[in-house]
Amino acid sequence: MEIFFMRSTSFETLIKSLNPHSLIDASISKKDYVPLDLSISNSDLLSYDLSSSEALEDYILSHLRKNNAKVAFGGYIERRGIYNRSKHFNRPNPEEERNIHLGLDIWIAAGTPIFAPLDGLVHSFNNNTNYGDYGPTIILQHSIENHKFYTLYGHLSVESISNLEVGLEVKRGDKFASLGTSKVNGDYSPHLHFQIIKDIQNQKGDYPGVCNQIDLEFYKNNCPDPQLLFKLN
Ligand SMILES: [Zn+2]
Repeated sequence: MEIFFMRSTSFETLIKSLNPHSLIDASISKKDYVPLDLSISNSDLLSYDLSSSEALEDYILSHLRKNNAKVAFGGYIERRGIYNRSKHFNRPNPEEERNIHLGLDIWIAAGTPIFAPLDGLVHSFNNNTNYGDYGPTIILQHSIENHKFYTLYGHLSVESISNLEVGLEVKRGDKFASLGTSKVNGDYSPHLHFQIIKDIQNQKGDYPGVCNQIDLEFYKNNCPDPQLLFKLN
C-alpha cells in the first residue's frame, strides 16, 4: 500500500507567495527606494558620529539626495556599529554583543503613516523606552493557511498606541500607525523597524530586533528575511 503525504507549504514559501500592501504610501514607486548599508564594513560611515541621531539622519538624507531617492531601506542580518552606544545592547564579551539586525528598516520622515501589509489582529503593544530601544511598538498576529505568525513594527509615534486595543482587527492596507520622532523612538533617525516572527516566545509588545553571534542561527530561523515578503530589491 502506498501512502501519500500532503506536504504543507513551508513558512518561507508561504511568505514569498503573499501579496502585501506597502508599509508606507503605496504610490511611492519601488524605484524611489534605495538600499542603505549601515554595516560596520561601510567606510562612508566612519566620518559620522553614529551615537548621535542627528548625524545618522544627516548621513541618510545625503544618501537619499545622492541617489535621488525618497526612502532608504535594508538591514536584515546586518552587523552594525550603531548599537554600542547603549548598554541595552553592549556586553564585555564580543560574542555576546548584540549588533546583528533582524528586521527590515524603512528610513523615512517622522509622522509617515504606516499601513498593515496583511490582515491580522493586534497581538500586543508597548512603549519600550530603554535608550536605543524601539519606543512605541505594535505586534500584529496573522493566521494564513495554517501558519500562525507575527509582524513587529518598532519606532512608532506615541499616538500609534495611545488608543489601541489587543485583539483589534487590522485589514491589509489599513493605516494603523505612524512613525515616531527621535525623541520617542529610542533616539534614532526616524524609521520603521519591521520584523517577521514565527514563534513569539511569550513576548508582548517587544521582541529582540538585534541579536548576538551566539544566537544568530536561532533568530535567522525564527525571523525570516522580510524581503521574502516585500521584494524591494
Ligand atoms: Zn531596525
